[in-house]
Amino acid sequence: MAGAFGFKGCQKIRGPQIRNLLEAKDFFLFDCDGVIWHGEKAISGAAKVVNSLIRHGKNVVFVTNNCTRPRENYVHKFYRLGFTDVMLEQIFSSSYCSALYLRDVVKVRGQVFVIGCDGLRRELQEADIPCVEEADDPDATIYDCALAPDVKAVLVGHDDKLTFLKLAKASCYLRDPDCLFLATDNDPWHPLSGGRILPGSGSLTAALEVASGRKATVIGKPSRFMFECISSQFRGVDPAQCLMVGDRLETDMLFGSNCGLDTMLTLTGVSQIEEAQEYRNSELTTNHSLVPDYVVDTIADFLPAFEELDEQSN
Ligand SMILES: [Mg+2]
Repeated sequence: MAGAFGFKGCQKIRGPQIRNLLEAKDFFLFDCDGVIWHGEKAISGAAKVVNSLIRHGKNVVFVTNNCTRPRENYVHKFYRLGFTDVMLEQIFSSSYCSALYLRDVVKVRGQVFVIGCDGLRRELQEADIPCVEEADDPDATIYDCALAPDVKAVLVGHDDKLTFLKLAKASCYLRDPDCLFLATDNDPWHPLSGGRILPGSGSLTAALEVASGRKATVIGKPSRFMFECISSQFRGVDPAQCLMVGDRLETDMLFGSNCGLDTMLTLTGVSQIEEAQEYRNSELTTNHSLVPDYVVDTIADFLPAFEELDEQSN
């Protein structure tokens, strides 16, 4: 991951360097939260950047570990926040990719037990994957609740209604070695405003890994599978022509590195440049995969490059 200009890692780039990068790449992968928006608020200039990339004929896709909403809700959200040219086919969420994995890779036969929100269930339904219905009465316990006989996979995502009973049931299903154990993503936590945090899917998966003594297969970033989904749906994607833009070293930068893409860290989200420098200086060579090739303060730093390109073509 030397980057297109021969320097290694953590290089803050500006003006002409960004322009060269825009010209050199034809496929842009963006993480969402912390890169193009914070929750319900678009990052200033992000919509203009995305719309400009599309207008300049670049391929743009979004790769998000957020599994709480189905893709069509993302399209509405993009539109609402001013990203008016984004279409369903450009959105690769960990819930959508989990559905593809269950349907096309492992071809699951039987039901899936889901720990997750409605958005995740909706994506599975769209792919015709049957999920165990949650029909327990409120007083049910693991001693007396019903267990479905044909559960062939446990899928763990973000679940803000997690109960002890759900964890216990999942643990029981996972005693069957033929029952697959999947996680939408392994994110440990997510930032909220005011310094609060939200435990991520990774924390729920960890609980089940301890209870089952098994390791989950992770679908979302940093696993390569999302890139395989993109490659199967966009013809001729060349990793050398791709730039992965994200705000989290442990997911976005590692994902890019795992897939052979150049990576860019934007400082509007979770990770700081100092953490990236620490990974770069680490003696542990595996840590070097978490180092971005390029760093920008915000993706709005792309805007002057577009202005230059537009002036050139006028
Ligand atoms: Mg993010």
